[in-house]
Amino acid sequence: MNVYEEMIPYLLHWYRYNARVLPWREDPSAYHVWISEIMLQQTRVEAVRAYYTRFLEELPDVKALSECPDDRLMKLWEGLGYYSRARNLKKAAQAVCEQYGGTLPDTVTELRKLPGIGDYTAGAIASIAFHKPEPAVDGNVLRVLSRLSGSRACIALPEVKKEMAAELRKVMPAERSGELNQAIMDIGATVCVPNGSPHCEECPLMHLCTAFREGTTSEIPVKEEKKERRIEERTVFLIECEGAVLLHRRPEKGLLAGLFEYPNVLGKLSVKKAEAAVSELFSETEYGTPFTVRSIKKADNAKHIFSHIEWHMTAYLVKAEKGNASLPDDYVWAGPEDLRTRYSLPTAFAKWDARGKAKKG
Ligand code: SF4
Repeated sequence: MNVYEEMIPYLLHWYRYNARVLPWREDPSAYHVWISEIMLQQTRVEAVRAYYTRFLEELPDVKALSECPDDRLMKLWEGLGYYSRARNLKKAAQAVCEQYGGTLPDTVTELRKLPGIGDYTAGAIASIAFHKPEPAVDGNVLRVLSRLSGSRACIALPEVKKEMAAELRKVMPAERSGELNQAIMDIGATVCVPNGSPHCEECPLMHLCTAFREGTTSEIPVKEEKKERRIEERTVFLIECEGAVLLHRRPEKGLLAGLFEYPNVLGKLSVKKAEAAVSELFSETEYGTPFTVRSIKKADNAKHIFSHIEWHMTAYLVKAEKGNASLPDDYVWAGPEDLRTRYSLPTAFAKWDARGKAKKG
């Protein structure tokens, strides 16, 4: 019997008494598992709880999601980041309605064909909602299994992940695969934690664990250092006119695709250059000048970190007066009510209050 087989009864027993209470576990339908797993990618459980409940209240099933207007979907996703996840959810929901009559398929192979569903999410849906003996291997699971088996293989390598998934698949108990996957996820999240020392004394796998026995929990898992993030300087304009701020819709492709932003340009501009840049925002369009600058002053600087890039933002608060030209289609004046209910501003730009002061937190 190898350690993967040996761990199963201990994990299932532990899970019975220690499973985290999470809203998506109350009724683990395929739709619920899917939405929660997509939200949980790159986002903490505590942050997801409220979003999940609100999302489900408004979009309770695949059909409702497939018909949700894009702007509303972005509003529901506002603050969660990585907005392509929401766009893929809708695309996948449309495909499920067209190809599977509105019910998510129950095999990993079919699930993997849907936009935004990778091996992990497909495994989680198939095992938790449909009790298929499929593994769901993410960073938490890789960490637990590496420490348990004492593996020093780099967990960033796809082949290592594949191999661990294959080993796990061999021992998956029929009917209880969902419990087993969730047990390993919970051990990884609450006991065999990623930051700081793991709580081995609380772990049901301690007597089986190589890293514990050999005192190597600080060395395992092995993970190659990530590449350094690129730093990009940007100058952001908070342009206010008659109680509304100017927003621009970003292009449909690339970072924060299709979302609103405060107008901004590359580089760290002085106040003089910033004034010239803001006055020239529409100079090359057919629309003339929809506003003129009355005053400009420095706002707080802000920073936003994406996975591969870091924005260092120099911001200016601009008071403007409406001109005689209308705005181009990809710009809009947004009042406080619009910002609350209609237009979603991604976290990268939701950094300032109305006076240009950095928001706390
Ligand atoms: Fe992780 Fe410690 Fe449990 Fe091993 S004994 S799996 S290192 S928490």
